[in-house]
Amino acid sequence: MSPNSQIVGVHLDLKYQMPGKRYLMDWVRRLPSLGINTLLIEYEDKFPFVRHPFLRHVDAFTPAELRELLAAARGAGLRVAPLLQSLSHLEFALNHEALASLRECPEIPTQICPCNKDAVKFIHDLQDEVMAFHAEDEWFHIGADEAWSLGSCPDCARRAGNDTTALWLEHTAAMCERVRRLGKRPMMWDDAFWKEPSLAVELPSDVLLCSWDYGVTRIAPEQNPARLMTAYERLGREAVGCPCLNWGLLFPRRHTMENTAAWAGLLRQSGRGMINTSWASFHTLLPTWVMQVAATGALMQGVEAGAEWEADFLAGEFGVRVAGLPDALAALGEMWEVPIEGLKRPITLPLHACMDMVLHYPGGQEERKQRGGYPLNMEEIDFTAMYRRKLELLRGLPDARPIHEKLDCYLGACSGAVSKLSELAGSAQRRREEAALFLALGELKLVALRALSLHLRHDLDPASVLRDAQACRSQLERLLPQFVEPSGCRLLLRMWCKPIQDALDRRSR
Ligand SMILES: [Zn+2]
Repeated sequence: MSPNSQIVGVHLDLKYQMPGKRYLMDWVRRLPSLGINTLLIEYEDKFPFVRHPFLRHVDAFTPAELRELLAAARGAGLRVAPLLQSLSHLEFALNHEALASLRECPEIPTQICPCNKDAVKFIHDLQDEVMAFHAEDEWFHIGADEAWSLGSCPDCARRAGNDTTALWLEHTAAMCERVRRLGKRPMMWDDAFWKEPSLAVELPSDVLLCSWDYGVTRIAPEQNPARLMTAYERLGREAVGCPCLNWGLLFPRRHTMENTAAWAGLLRQSGRGMINTSWASFHTLLPTWVMQVAATGALMQGVEAGAEWEADFLAGEFGVRVAGLPDALAALGEMWEVPIEGLKRPITLPLHACMDMVLHYPGGQEERKQRGGYPLNMEEIDFTAMYRRKLELLRGLPDARPIHEKLDCYLGACSGAVSKLSELAGSAQRRREEAALFLALGELKLVALRALSLHLRHDLDPASVLRDAQACRSQLERLLPQFVEPSGCRLLLRMWCKPIQDALDRRSR
């Protein structure tokens, strides 16, 4: 691609489970045909680190695998940019006790201390390793978002006084300069400038600001996306807009399309690019958000990507037109949260979601936030106990009626959606395994809703729900290995299926 063409990118977040490597290779090769020209890869622990080998996840790329993937991406015409955090969101590293001395706050494993020379050297070392695989690529993303605990350690507190901004700027500017010295253009998230965009002039002039907002579906001039883009323009800073592709869910919410469309409208007006972000959680699998990737390309070319476009895209994808399929997928992407007093954040129904980790950590929401989501060793999470706690909290609500009403509404919508997916799986001419996966995930969601209904209202036969849950698990056991590497498959089944099966098993005995 020409070096000056506008960025139309997707962000691949490799936190948590690793996508199936063969599937990932095909996915990457396919991106240009979906209108994508840039791939931002956030490696986390899936990079083949050498200097600190304990950082490597069991399903991490080997050097040869990574070289092959990057060559395939570049060969397909993609601009590739690695993302390695340089201050915060380093839980994949700082969760290791061996690196605890580098933390800004001893009990918070997300952030390094910028005043600690060893911590800064550690980041430099990681950067050097990542750069070695990206010699021919132009960009390097340094992260730099959500440095919530900055100023906690005595050294930083002394230097920062009441205002950590200068300290953040000093550290981040130095990271940008280092990246430039190594021959790359720095990119970074822009949330540190939301309050005061003019601070962006303190960074090198060629930094690319990745401005994110996952909430907006219409952008008024006074809202962040428009306000910030205008400010960056005035300051002579380049920026791209970053919506969210998947919302970290099993099936993306319809909101993701509206969020992307809103951003695309703004960006096309000003001739700026987009990197659509894809947040990893246990609920995201690459195949379920392919339509959102394609919509990114289409919207940035000025195509409207509404209901008709969705239906056409899915018909092309599977080689068959199933009436109502876009609505069925949107119904399965609906998110349902219930506020629980004292928990400081709502819990997600019916399946586990990242935010539900409030039920795992004794310190609740505060601890979940500080830990950055999940502990290093996922084996220590007892999903069955979390599910049981969720049920107890729901049963303890003073008024169950709103839950029951919503449950009926979701049960109806999901069972309709699953029959559409069943039609799709039965008639797909192309991507038959993806169609089968869609059906299995839809059935998983439906069985989870039925189990919930049974536990809250005793209205179904436990043995029959358990049988369906087991059948659903068998399907997933067969399908998942194509889309997720082995340890991720085990984790998904333990998180999605086991709690439901355990709870039903107890009842049906
Ligand atoms: Zn510090």
